[in-house]
Amino acid sequence: MRWSQLYAPTLKEVPSDADVKSQELLIRAGFIRKTVAGVYTYLPLGLRVLQKITQIVREEMNAIGAQELLMPIMQPAEIWKATGRWEDYGPEMIKFLDRNKREFTLGPTHEEMITTLVKGELKSYKQLPVTLYQINTKYRDEIRPRFGLLRGREFIMKDAYSFHSDDESLDLTYRDMYRAYSRICERMDLEYFAVEADTGAIGGNNSHEFTVLAKNGESNILYCDKCGYAATDEKAEYKPDYPISSEKEEELKLISTPDVRSVEDLTKFLGVSEEKIVKSMVYVGRNGIFMALIRGDLEVNEAKLKSHFKDQTIRKATPEEVQNALKVPVGYLGPVGAEIKIFADFSVKGMKNFIVGGMKEGFHYVNANFDRDFKVSEWIDMKKVTAGDRCPKCGAPLKMKKGIEVGQIFKLGAKYSKKLEAFYVDKNGEQKPFVMGCYGWGVSRTMAAVVEQYHDENGMIWPRSIAPFEVIVTVVNSSDEEQMNFGKELYESLKNSALDVLLDDREVSGGFKFKDADLIGIPLRITVGRNLKNGKVEMKLRNSQDKFEIKAEKDTVVKEAEKMLNGYKLKK
Ligand code: ATP
Ligand code: MG
Repeated sequence: MRWSQLYAPTLKEVPSDADVKSQELLIRAGFIRKTVAGVYTYLPLGLRVLQKITQIVREEMNAIGAQELLMPIMQPAEIWKATGRWEDYGPEMIKFLDRNKREFTLGPTHEEMITTLVKGELKSYKQLPVTLYQINTKYRDEIRPRFGLLRGREFIMKDAYSFHSDDESLDLTYRDMYRAYSRICERMDLEYFAVEADTGAIGGNNSHEFTVLAKNGESNILYCDKCGYAATDEKAEYKPDYPISSEKEEELKLISTPDVRSVEDLTKFLGVSEEKIVKSMVYVGRNGIFMALIRGDLEVNEAKLKSHFKDQTIRKATPEEVQNALKVPVGYLGPVGAEIKIFADFSVKGMKNFIVGGMKEGFHYVNANFDRDFKVSEWIDMKKVTAGDRCPKCGAPLKMKKGIEVGQIFKLGAKYSKKLEAFYVDKNGEQKPFVMGCYGWGVSRTMAAVVEQYHDENGMIWPRSIAPFEVIVTVVNSSDEEQMNFGKELYESLKNSALDVLLDDREVSGGFKFKDADLIGIPLRITVGRNLKNGKVEMKLRNSQDKFEIKAEKDTVVKEAEKMLNGYKLKK
């Protein structure tokens, strides 16, 4: 490709609404353009990267025997109603009516679709296992579409689904997928973690997330240096070791605490530590409103509540819901006298004489105690694990890193096949629901995740395998005939050696060209400049400051280019 003909509109200014580096750089460098929040066009450079990522994902899927198909994005409501997810999936689902008032969704995922598809067509255990996948656009009306391609409302996903006659067969495909996902990360030279994950709205009982390390990541990974345990913060467990108080129970007192609403206010007002306070949070789920208690300095992990109660609809109650149900404003909530179910975290189990909301505006109780003052229905682990908590496996302190989830794999079991009555006939002639797995990879998110991991103050730094071009030939002075002619010849030779080459033949200054080459992040730059007169061109890798000159002889340059690219590694 010749840059003079390339449609890659670059911007000098940082786009004002770009809140992460990948979004800023991909927009500035002319890879993508925003239509509305979370909806983007891929311009030619962006599409080249996207197609290379797609190809890597496709090759790794094919290598483990998965077969590609393509399903519709427009899906009828009935199949979603059959699994209960028409309601459960929540407002992320984009729903609409056709002209006959029939309900549809733009698929946020395809479990219902594929299970309905194979139902009645895959009939016998002899045909199993089967793994099918597609690379397709997904729609999710995210609450906060942001960070460019990282959290879109329209985005590209590879989603695979496997069908089995038993758990052992599912385990094998799951293991193959785990390895394929690891290879995808490695082929893109990424620093990543494969971590234990919560199964969320998809359901099932076993899941791993593949997370690319990045400062701006929305996922927190807790990991143990000592034994290798690693999990997302939604899923992470820990070894609790809270003190058991030996105080004797004091008299419960209601005290006036005007304008004291938060734990922080309360510690200041009463001169106590957060560890003396029990926070009361109110949630709503399928079975109504309930209270969750946790120590004042800790946070509740909503995903753990959802998973414990097997209820994905659980969410924090709104101030209005709290007021209606308990007749007290948020800020003064407490378990004493609260006529709703109370669940408590292990962190408060050993506490005595603690402080809780007074269930009356402007009041708190001091010296509250379990059983005497209120009853707990169940003790559960609902704490958000953080760095420093003890590893659930070996007890060493856990560490935390931020990352971006690029893929997630799940063992689904028979959850969908049962609800959709998707059966096969086993060896004994009996009808059984398929055992299933599902495996998602965020293709468009990967593009941004790579930029988050690899960039510098001058722009993007692409790994060779997904760079829009592998080599750029920069002709410093396009009106110098000798430079231009050699540049073109070199460009042809590099192309003939099956390299992906961009020739910068634009009528702009050399400095401008160097800046653009850095911005778009091409691994190798070959500069054809003033020293061509002395029979030299310059070679420079994007991830290093070093440059050197070599003989301006086509075969020599091509050989050197291949050697340099073969050794180009971003991962430390
Ligand atoms: P997240 O927790 O980030 O919302 P998810 O758990 O909802 O993701 P999955 O349903 O597991 O995502 O989807 C598979 C993959 O699709 C994810 O690992 C991610 O890479 C990608 N993905 C999910 N949601 C988005 C989105 N809104 N924009 C871009 N990619 C996405
Ligand atoms: Mg996920």
